[in-house]
Amino acid sequence: MNAGPLADDERLKTILPQACCYCSSTERLSIDHLIPREKGGADTGDNIVWACRSCNSSKGARDALEWLSSRDQFPPLLRLRRYLKIAIDISKEQGVMDTLLTEAPPLPFSLSAIPQTFPAPDQLRLWITPLPATNQSAKA
Ligand SMILES: [Zn+2]
Repeated sequence: MNAGPLADDERLKTILPQACCYCSSTERLSIDHLIPREKGGADTGDNIVWACRSCNSSKGARDALEWLSSRDQFPPLLRLRRYLKIAIDISKEQGVMDTLLTEAPPLPFSLSAIPQTFPAPDQLRLWITPLPATNQSAKA
C-alpha cells in the first residue's frame, strides 16, 4: 500500500465521488468539520469533509478522530493524514512544535485521539471506499 504524497489527496478530492467520509453513503450529505468549529477548527478545505446526515448527527460537535475512536473504528489513512496535517499546521501557528505534549496549551485538535498504535497492515484502509485507478497508483 502506497499512501502517496499529500498532493494526491488534493487530486483525489476532485475525482472521488461525493460521499460521506465516514460511511461512504451518498445520501443526504452535509458539510462536516474534522476538527469542530466549536473547538477552533477552521473553515478550510483541509478541515471540511462530506458527511451523511446520520454520521453527522451521531458525531455532533465531536472531533472526528474522537468520534471514530468511540465507535472503535480506525480512521482511513488518508483521513488520518489530513487530520495530522491540520494538527501540525495549528501547532506551527501556535508556536508549540517544540513544546512537550504534557506542557502544551489547550489545542483545537485532540491529542488523545491520535492513534498510538496501528492495526496490522492488512487491516488498514487508505480510504472509506476503494480508490479509483489513477496514473500515480498505476506506477506504484
Ligand atoms: Zn455517513
